[in-house]
Amino acid sequence: MAISSDAIRQAVSAAHTAALMVNGGANASYIPYLASVPSGLMGVAVVTADGQVFSAGDADYRFAIESISKVFTLALAMELLGADAIRRKVGASPTGLPFNSVMALELNSGKPLSPLVNAGAIATASLVPGDTADQCWQKILDCQSSFAGRPIDLSAEVNTSEQTTNFHNRAIGWLLYSAGTCYSDPMRAVDVYTRQCSTLITAKDLAVMGATLATGGVNPVTGKRVISTANVPHVLAEMTMEGLYTASGEWAYTVGLPGKSGVGGGILAVAPGKLAIAAFSPPLDPAGNSVRAAAAVAHVARSLGLNLYAPAAAAASA
Ligand code: GLU
Repeated sequence: MAISSDAIRQAVSAAHTAALMVNGGANASYIPYLASVPSGLMGVAVVTADGQVFSAGDADYRFAIESISKVFTLALAMELLGADAIRRKVGASPTGLPFNSVMALELNSGKPLSPLVNAGAIATASLVPGDTADQCWQKILDCQSSFAGRPIDLSAEVNTSEQTTNFHNRAIGWLLYSAGTCYSDPMRAVDVYTRQCSTLITAKDLAVMGATLATGGVNPVTGKRVISTANVPHVLAEMTMEGLYTASGEWAYTVGLPGKSGVGGGILAVAPGKLAIAAFSPPLDPAGNSVRAAAAVAHVARSLGLNLYAPAAAAASA
């Protein structure tokens, strides 16, 4: 049975109210820009597969996409090179280790395993074709814009903040290169990866981006196909395995939807065929997931009975 607009409206509003009562966490501080974002911001948005938009709170505030960008560059690389090539060259398994782990690379002969950790995302960015970093970057930016259904911009301020502090990621780039798992100049790959993390989106944008996956690849607001239906399950599977850092298993167990978070405070979850839920709030837990955004997304998913692993009746009464 289709979920009613009223049910979604109520779920979004209640999730926003409930999440505001949740405390704890701290803004990411290793990227100076992120430390300066007001911690009290909190927005929630849902976009359905037929393009209806629901929101509450600071859902129009523009925040840094960060790691959530990995989902869309992955989708682009799958379109351009085929899903099998990505699985072979980058991997399709969880690492079980933090998103920027060097140990994960060392334990796996330099293969990143997941396109949703930094090493795998840098390797994925290195696979996007282009004669120059700018050409490669333009494809990634266009892809983010197609998913969002509006032109997405790079923030010079976020990008400068990241490019001048991303020494750990540069080390990862060189480690990949030495293992033969970086497919362009490694510093170019890190540059492009850093730019893809430095665009600004709103919770509403993020929900549209997720809803484009929920429909099977067509943006429900613009009506334009963004990626092929065949690649969507692969993207969602990667999100399930590694989308919420080392808490991905906990998330699957408790929420039951493919998700992706970023250290900018955004979290996205996709209910295939139905809708996407996005939330934003800067303070993060130790794993790197926004405390309030996780609570809000989980609240909406629970209220609407969206757990993918639950038989319909159990999900509806959850
Ligand atoms: N730009 C960030 C980094 O590479 C993104 C991390 C994240 O959101 O997980 O460190």
